[in-house]
Parts: sequence; structure tokens; C-alpha cells
Amino acid sequence: MVYEGESEGEGESEWQERGYVRLPTFLERGFSDLKHEVIARGRCSMCGTCAAFCEKISIEEGDTEPRFTEGYDTVCGLCYTFCPRTFMPQASIEERIFGRTSDDALGVYRACYEARTRREEIEGQDGGVVTSLLAYGLDTLAIDCAVVTASDSNWRPKVEVARDYETLKASAGTRYTLYPSVIGVREALESDCNAIAFVGLPCQIQGLRKVETANQPYALGVEAVKLLIGLFCTKNYTEGLLDFVNRRVPLDRVRKFDIKGKELRVYKARAEAGGGGEEDVITIPLSELEGFVHEGCSVCTDFTAELADISVGSVGSAEGWSTLITRTERGDELVRGAYESGYIEIKALPESGMEQVRKLAVKKRSHNQEQER
Ligand SMILES: Cc1cc2nc3c(=O)[nH]c(=O)nc-3n(C[C@H](O)[C@H](O)[C@H](O)COP(=O)(O)OP(=O)(O)OC[C@H]3O[C@@H](n4cnc5c(N)ncnc54)[C@H](O)[C@@H]3O)c2cc1C
Ligand code: SF4
Ligand code: SF4
Repeated sequence: MVYEGESEGEGESEWQERGYVRLPTFLERGFSDLKHEVIARGRCSMCGTCAAFCEKISIEEGDTEPRFTEGYDTVCGLCYTFCPRTFMPQASIEERIFGRTSDDALGVYRACYEARTRREEIEGQDGGVVTSLLAYGLDTLAIDCAVVTASDSNWRPKVEVARDYETLKASAGTRYTLYPSVIGVREALESDCNAIAFVGLPCQIQGLRKVETANQPYALGVEAVKLLIGLFCTKNYTEGLLDFVNRRVPLDRVRKFDIKGKELRVYKARAEAGGGGEEDVITIPLSELEGFVHEGCSVCTDFTAELADISVGSVGSAEGWSTLITRTERGDELVRGAYESGYIEIKALPESGMEQVRKLAVKKRSHNQEQER
């Protein structure tokens, strides 16, 4: 597999020099290699990319890793090539998507804003910006569906292919548990969506960009994915987190989870909030939750979803606002259109906000590169 801007020979010597694996050639690598080099070594992020683009791989409810479901591995190389944890030709992909690379800890970007929705009915995690941008995209037919991660009444994540405002609104908010959301892209492709938006974590955006940019001979239909919205991410948790919280507050009575600073805040549903001054939120120090951090996150170095069209997070902005980074022309146009049409309000992100984001991006990169050694 050769990425744009690299010849096979060059790639080989460069990777050998750095002590990494040689880039795979088709009919050379298969699921057993993925299993051996990524899954068994605790590097899998459960992004879902391998299962989304190979029907022999599945991740069913309750699975903690991707599984090969057939006896015969054709060793076609797709899963190995698309996985964000086998090799990551970041510079080549940046050149291909953005036309340039960047040394900035924020990655390649065009503009940074503080933003929030103008629609009161959207109960977003921060500024409700992701949901508002998708609503604008659906209304203007820039997209015909959005692959989002919603949850059931017990906060177990589930993927939705949203085609209407009600489904979008129900997906607003953050689920701090792993879910292989990229499999929703397969569902969208199978249901004939032609202009798909995907919202996901940095590892998921990396997987989809690899699928988009890899030079490979199969018709996967990935051109139908028109917009990638990435969420900032420091780490993610296993379902054990939900079981732990459930012992203190029944999950069906939780209205919101939020990680702020060094604590997890669990907001009780409004009906449960007592009168007489009783708090409707409990806080749990993140140090008590370390055992639930997903192993695969320990080697992840991308905080801001550097390969997305648009990245969104909370850090850097005031309470009730989201930090919004546009990276591509497509991303810029969507944000500008949503602003001009009254879906969102935006203001320039102050330098202090940008510095906060940069600081966390550098911290994650240096800490997790260290872990990988
Ligand atoms: C696991 C996780 C860790 C995060 N860590 C940080 C952090 O360290 N610092 C920071 O600044 N921001 C972090 N964020 C981002 C932040 O929580 C908000 O998602 C972001 O600010 C957007 O808020 P919003 O109100 O604009 O989005 P909303 O309008 O509320 O929309 C949220 C969108 O997120 C999607 N989503 C929710 N949960 C998941 C999930 N598990 N996987 C994929 N998509 C999901 C939903 O589909 C929805 O489309 C994290 C998000 C997640 C999911
Ligand atoms: S990181 Fe993603 S693509 Fe790689 S093995 Fe895990 S689920 Fe599959
Ligand atoms: S820390 Fe990295 S690997 Fe873990 S969920 Fe976030 S983006 Fe994915």
C-alpha cells in the first residue's frame, strides 16, 4: 500500500529506518496480522473501521474487540491498511486532504471560534454546535444523513443514521464509553445515502481518512462520505464506567455526563433533583476511574481530531459554548452557512483559548508517545 507522495521503495527505506513495519502490499496482510500487531498488543481503539469495511469482521454488542467471523482470510490487506493503529502516514494524508502540513499542535486549520447553537430546543453537551451544524447540513441538502452516536435509556451507546431533526436532537450530548461508531458508515452506505456526515472521535476520523486516501483497488463507496466532524478526546472509557456509576445513580435517572477538569460530573434527571437544596449532580474524581480507561487510548496522540473537516470540543471556550476549528474549505463553508442562516452564533476564539487547546494537544502527544515506547 503506497500513499500519495511516497513511492514503494522510498516508503520502505523510511519506515525501516524508523524501525516500523514495512507498508503492506495487497495479498500480504490480513486479519491475523491485525490481531497480532494491534488487538493482542492492546492498541485497538475499537473505532470500528475494520468491521465497517470488511464483512468478515464484526463487532457485536458486548464484544471487547473485533472478531473474524469466517474461516478463510483472503489476506486482502484492507483491514490492516485502514486501521489507524497499524501505521499512520499523517503527513501524506494531510497533504492529500488539506494540501499542506503544519507544525502547529492544533494541526492544519483555517479558523478557530467559540460557538453555540441558536436553537433552544437542542440540549447539547457544550454549545450544541455539532447538532446544529448537522441540522443545517440536512436542511440545505448539503448532506442526506448523519452518522451519530446516541444511547439507550441506560447510556449504552448505539449508532444512528440520522435523516431528520428529531433523531439528531436525540443524539446530542457526550457518551464517555467506547463504541465502534464507524460501523454506522457501512449502514449509511447500505441504505443508499449519497452525502454522509460522520461525527466521531479522533481515532475514528483517522480510520475514515485512511479509507478515503488509501490507494486500493476496491469500490467501497467512501466518496459518499462528505463531511467529517471530529470531537476533541483525551481518553475514553469501557462499559465498566457505566456499571460503576450505576451503583451510585441508576443510569436511567442520569440526564448528562460531563468531564470537567479532573472530575466526572453526573447530572441527575431533573425530576430526581430534590427540593430543599439537594444537589442534582454528583462528582467523581477521574483518579477513581483510571481502571476503566480503555487500554487502546494509551497510544493515541491526537487530541483535536486533526484530520477532520471540522473539530469541536469544550476546552478553550466558556461554559455553554463549544470550541470550533475549521480545517477544510468544506468545513469553513458549512460553519459560515450555519452562522449566516441563524443556526449558530460564533465569535473568534481568544488566543488564551487556543493556548489551552494547544497545551492539551501537546500533553496528550508527549504522554502517549512515551507510553508507546
Ligand atoms: C469520549 C469523548 C471524550 C471527549 N473528551 C473531550 C476532552 O477531553 N476535551 C474536550 O474539550 N472535549 C472532549 N470531548 C468533546 C465534548 O464532550 C463535546 O462532544 C464537544 O464539545 C461537542 O459539544 P456540542 O455541544 O457542540 O455537541 P452536541 O451538539 O452535543 O453533539 C455531540 C455529538 O457527539 C456525538 N457523540 C457523543 N458521544 C460519542 C461517542 N462516544 N463517540 C462518537 N461520537 C459521539 C453525538 O453523536 C453528537 O453528534 C469528548 C467527547 C467524547 C465523545
Ligand atoms: S483500531 Fe479500529 S480498525 Fe484497528 S483493529 Fe481496532 S477497531 Fe479495527
Ligand atoms: S483517546 Fe484516542 S483512541 Fe481513545 S477514544 Fe479518544 S481518539 Fe480514540
